[in-house]
Amino acid sequence: MPMKKFKTESKKLLDLMINSIYTNREIFLRELVSNASDAIDKLYFRSLVDEKVDINRADLAITVGYDDDERVITVSDNGLGMTKDELDKNLGTIAYSDSFEFKAENAEGDAAADVDIIGQFGVGFYSAFMVGKRVKVVSRSVDSDEAWAWESDGVDGYAIKEAHRAEHGTDVYVYLKDDTDDEDYSGFATEHRLTDLIKRYSNYVRYPIQMELTLSRAKEAPADAGDDYRPEYETYTEVQTINSMVPIWKRSRSEVSQEEYDEFYKTDFRDFEAPARTISLHAEGQLTYDALMFVPAHAPYDMYSKDYKKGLALYSSGVLIMEKCEELVPDYFNFMRGVVDSADLTLNISRETLQHNGQLHAIARRLEKKVKAELASMRDDDREAYERFFKEFGRTLKYGLYTTYGMAKDTLGDLLLFYSAKEQKMVTLDEYLAAAGDEPEAIFFAAGDSIERLAGMPIVTTVLGKGHDVLLCDDNVDEFCMMALGAYPFGEGDDRTMVPLKNVAGEDLGLTTEEEKEQAEKATEDNAALFEAMAGALAGKVEKVVVSTRLTDAPAVLTTEGAVSLKMAEMLKHAPGSEEAPDAHVVLEVNAGHPVFETLRAAQGAGEAEKVADYTGILYDQALMVEGLLPDDPVAFAQRISKLMV
Ligand code: ADP
Repeated sequence: MPMKKFKTESKKLLDLMINSIYTNREIFLRELVSNASDAIDKLYFRSLVDEKVDINRADLAITVGYDDDERVITVSDNGLGMTKDELDKNLGTIAYSDSFEFKAENAEGDAAADVDIIGQFGVGFYSAFMVGKRVKVVSRSVDSDEAWAWESDGVDGYAIKEAHRAEHGTDVYVYLKDDTDDEDYSGFATEHRLTDLIKRYSNYVRYPIQMELTLSRAKEAPADAGDDYRPEYETYTEVQTINSMVPIWKRSRSEVSQEEYDEFYKTDFRDFEAPARTISLHAEGQLTYDALMFVPAHAPYDMYSKDYKKGLALYSSGVLIMEKCEELVPDYFNFMRGVVDSADLTLNISRETLQHNGQLHAIARRLEKKVKAELASMRDDDREAYERFFKEFGRTLKYGLYTTYGMAKDTLGDLLLFYSAKEQKMVTLDEYLAAAGDEPEAIFFAAGDSIERLAGMPIVTTVLGKGHDVLLCDDNVDEFCMMALGAYPFGEGDDRTMVPLKNVAGEDLGLTTEEEKEQAEKATEDNAALFEAMAGALAGKVEKVVVSTRLTDAPAVLTTEGAVSLKMAEMLKHAPGSEEAPDAHVVLEVNAGHPVFETLRAAQGAGEAEKVADYTGILYDQALMVEGLLPDDPVAFAQRISKLMV
């Protein structure tokens, strides 16, 4: 029989797949095993409706074998099998699918681009050519007495010849490529590698995957064996089932011990520590799926690096589709590890269709709710554990609030913890408000580099002195997170109000009486000339100088008007694209009750302009240092102090 040629587009794709710089060749076994499993499924379903097809369910199995001399791997099944026509039709053209279409576009230009797409999805039978220089498929359909062999080198075409097979089913022979410096194809034809791959990718296939294993055992000791008898060993072979078949996530929670979950987590997700929390979910109805998720006890070392990839493993009926499906977890829960298994998803799902896959989104939403509920119960029932969790992953939650522009605040807001200056421990925003009386005016916070320094800041002590708690935020992302939150709900139902979050260094804190405000404004006016001189001395650094209403002990403080605080401006300065970063609108607030103010007034009155400028510079630099920032010009600062001391 003459050789048939592959269709042009098939050939192009085949070339691309086989020859692309491809790291994940090992998935060929998963693909062949999946096909075998599908074929058995089909036979099983046929037997339910066709009385001529009589099967014994217990016999249904997949067999994997190898020959290390001939360098061939076989995957056999006793499923539905294929007729000659079906071999021609099914294996003659590459199945049309989105991921292949995507590759076809890429093939013209950059062949190596996005090669990994192949590894992510079912690529089917053709993946056998990634490791095989020749592939033979011997199949006998349940509807036929004849067997046929399809054979191809994966390059030009294929041929179909008569063959023999005692029963219905299919054998796929993969004749391994020659080893190269980079690829050890022979390594696939080993017991160790094959059992490893089966356990890794196909552990939960519903049918037994059997292999003949070579084992060894001690020979029986002879009757006259003395004390110094050492047992002799002999090898023997035995057919064993390699896969575990019932996945742990399909079992009900009550059946599985925490130790089993911990073991599964540690081996599957390569963590030395047991998870902080185990979440299992069995959804039924429109979408049926099982999920098993874990909150790790500690952040992986690369968690905050660019290389970190979030996602849950995605299975379709026990067959691994991809190890990290990003679509299943939002960024702010990117620390979650776990597995989702749904029979409703097809195996050959491509990345493009994934993103628009409504089922996947529905699953993701449900999982998100579940994770949220679990974290909330951890917060309420085991505060110590929750604080440990927050130490590891709190930043991710806060960052999530910021990057979603506050859209996730309903999910994340009540999960946040901040350090309370009053309670001297971590509190939630609800706890802050619960302790703030019946009509809280604001949630006050201060942002800086360290809790200790923040606790000593003059405005913090002032606000505390007025009876309000202040949340001390020492994480870079805190202020951005507070900004994204904006306000936090207090009370229930009709009484629910939104309480604004206020930076104690920001604009009007609402803590001063009208009278105090008027006094300060008057004092500012009365000293207009002095303040003008001071603002002049700080040109480009502050927008204006005013009398403060919020200071008790310190001589001066820097505050800001508008959304950008000093610390934020400082951070933005160092961020990429900093040319466009907004500046803070800085105000120097002076304590009119402080003796230093009298000194300044006196100097201004005596026309000592240089002294006014020097003292103003010192006040400004002092205030910066209190904020944890360096003076703009430390040398000038030191010189002014020396001048003063002389
Ligand atoms: P897919 O499995 O995604 O359809 P493949 O390229 O893996 O794509 O296989 C193409 C077709 O070949 C399958 O749809 C199936 O009909 C047939 N096939 C592959 N392997 C087997 C098998 N072991 N037994 C029966 N039919 C098979």
